[in-house]
Amino acid sequence: MNKKLILYLVILLATLQVYAQQPKYVFLFIGDGMGLTQVSAAEAFLSDRDNIIGNKYLSFSYFPVIGLCTTFSADAYVTCSSAAATALASGFKINNGMVNISPSGDTLRPITYKLRDAGYKIGVATTVGINHATPAGFYAASGKRSDYYSIAEQLPHSGFNFFAGGGFISPKGKKEDRADIHEYITNAGYTIVRNWQDATVGKDKIILFQAEDKGDALPTAIQRKPDDLTLPQITEAAIRVLENEQGFFVMLEGGQIDWTCHSNEGVTAVHETIDFAAAVQVAVEFYKKYPKETLIIVTADHETGGMSINDEDDDLPFDFGWTTKGHTGVAVPIYAIGVRSELFGGKMDNTDIPKRICKAMGIND
Ligand SMILES: [Zn+2]
Repeated sequence: MNKKLILYLVILLATLQVYAQQPKYVFLFIGDGMGLTQVSAAEAFLSDRDNIIGNKYLSFSYFPVIGLCTTFSADAYVTCSSAAATALASGFKINNGMVNISPSGDTLRPITYKLRDAGYKIGVATTVGINHATPAGFYAASGKRSDYYSIAEQLPHSGFNFFAGGGFISPKGKKEDRADIHEYITNAGYTIVRNWQDATVGKDKIILFQAEDKGDALPTAIQRKPDDLTLPQITEAAIRVLENEQGFFVMLEGGQIDWTCHSNEGVTAVHETIDFAAAVQVAVEFYKKYPKETLIIVTADHETGGMSINDEDDDLPFDFGWTTKGHTGVAVPIYAIGVRSELFGGKMDNTDIPKRICKAMGIND
């Protein structure tokens, strides 16, 4: 064998080695408002239900890689969800209240577009409105996060393969004077399905929403009726629609951990967190099938409520304390498992997460 051929083989093997270490299927779960206390409270609640004092694991508690992530925005220590979503989606700090618009006015591009261009199928899903802050950060840009109509109008231009949530917020605009956004979306080539079983293998450009008369957010886990759409079902549907030879990236948000913590409803927040963990479990089952090709990351955009677990009420096994009805500026946990999960261990900033996802997937950020 001549030297050139040996060199060629060495380079080929090294390339294959690097390729083999890249995840093909990537899940990014965002528990909106899910700080360490929200996770600990859910674990304690499950333990208490079994009459033990302890921390019963959630699906992601046992993930081998754990990190911590700072959440401040460009103009405040306490971020809002749209600035945090931009950090997690595009890797830039921006001012609160905006989506993918930099402090100097530049439009930022979420990594979902780069991954789409690289051939990955893309999914964006939430338990709240699909044009709400966190999902918007992964497909839209707006100087005002409350510009729901213009955010929704941008959805079909992404060309992404799967969207899911409760519905659209303000589908006819704030003043109810715009054309129904559902028609616009359908005319742009998307199919809106209202039954999660209809989001099937081989379908593309699917938007999965709950029944039309149920509003723009899913009911909370504690209020849910048997036929209501759930985040675990959305996760299953996302996998069915997105699984393909080229791979996929999907962001799934548990949006109402935040809402229930805004209103300081501890038990409702605990149920939301348990439900979010059940959705992660669906991804874990997928990971067990493809352990050498899957990466799962679970994190939060910020903590909400300044929640604590205390024992001020003697009649309860544990009680909740709150310091605010808003968000707080504490770092939030990151849990990761699968191919290149080691990239998500240790202390980092929220802007590092999309950069590390790109690094894991071999894409230039
Ligand atoms: Zn919030």
